[in-house]
Amino acid sequence: MKSFVYEALPSRVVFGNGAIESVGDEVARLGCKRAIVLSTPEQQGSARKLASQLGTVAVGVFPHAIMHTPVEVTARALEAVNEVRADCLISLGGGSTIGLGKAIALRTDLPQIAIPTTYAGSEATPILGETEGGVKRTQRTFKVLPEVVIYDVSLTLTLPKGLSVTSGINAIAHAVEALYAKDANPVISALATQGITALAKALPTITEDAANEEARASALFGAWACGTCLGSVGMSLHHKLCHVLGGTFDLPHAETHTIVLPHALAYNASAVPEAMAILREALGTSEPAAFLFDLAARLGAPVALQQIGMLEQSLPRAVDIAVGFPYWNPRSIERKGIEAVLADAFHGRRPKAA
Ligand code: NAD
Repeated sequence: MKSFVYEALPSRVVFGNGAIESVGDEVARLGCKRAIVLSTPEQQGSARKLASQLGTVAVGVFPHAIMHTPVEVTARALEAVNEVRADCLISLGGGSTIGLGKAIALRTDLPQIAIPTTYAGSEATPILGETEGGVKRTQRTFKVLPEVVIYDVSLTLTLPKGLSVTSGINAIAHAVEALYAKDANPVISALATQGITALAKALPTITEDAANEEARASALFGAWACGTCLGSVGMSLHHKLCHVLGGTFDLPHAETHTIVLPHALAYNASAVPEAMAILREALGTSEPAAFLFDLAARLGAPVALQQIGMLEQSLPRAVDIAVGFPYWNPRSIERKGIEAVLADAFHGRRPKAA
């Protein structure tokens, strides 16, 4: 028997097709009357539509969220929040928009309603990564956990196929690392297994038919499950590498996760036999790491860091940072091994049997 500690996160989840209709009720349920809607510039049309649907309850729209939550954007958003005297935040979008909502909540304690439109999973975590002067710092605090999450399948139908795949594999990565986390527990492992199964099955259908509601619902459920894993247990080598690559070399978030996952998993495989057994079963393969590489390649996602703007001369610095301040990992972090992981990820080599 293995002992464990499980701590549930206090968050209300509303899941459905058309669930966005309930935003007004959720604002009222929080006891709020003046909501500001946050989005990226690309999603401002949807943000403004939501604001007009909310009528006088929406007192402003701030459509300037960008990736990696730079503190300068947060400062401008805080001005907007103060100007309209908002008493709650509605974050409509992916991890970038939800990150901005969290950064504002950290500084104001305003309640958040997150309406995710990608599979990144930030809405389900008490984690905030912020960038200042080119350096990304991550913190864990319940102050940033959204009070309410509304998952509306219809909002994900417009998620481009490419981002659906990489964002979905980003979610799978949370669940894979949850299976071998230092503080893994049976509830989160069960959720991780469900999330991986749902996403691995849904993503091929979505690439063929982006408007397939059944597959989209399955993927969004998987995203919630995997995001909950990320929010509940600690992450290891894979997340450390992606954090280094995204934060230091400004590589795109979801693509970086997609490329690194098979290699990080191959590195850890020999140290995590139980997690590998679960993955073999969930993915229906004898080689989970190679399967995840093939899945990304087959669905048209990038499989090499050099495809997404990484320079070969940056590899030694990435290795230094990854080895210098490692997260806890089930297999000890050896410099030669990490060099090989990053070189394989850089060139897009298929991992060997693992
Ligand atoms: P994103 O939020 O940056 O979105 C990427 C692009 O897709 C944006 O232009 C966005 O407007 C657009 N988009 C999003 N949903 C769409 C939809 N349904 N239809 C059409 N366009 C859509 O991408 P992301 O991968 O979700 O988020 C990445 C960011 O989230 C990174 O900064 C990452 O660090 C952060 N993140 C944080 C956590 C956490 O727990 N703190 C977890 C995961 C990701």
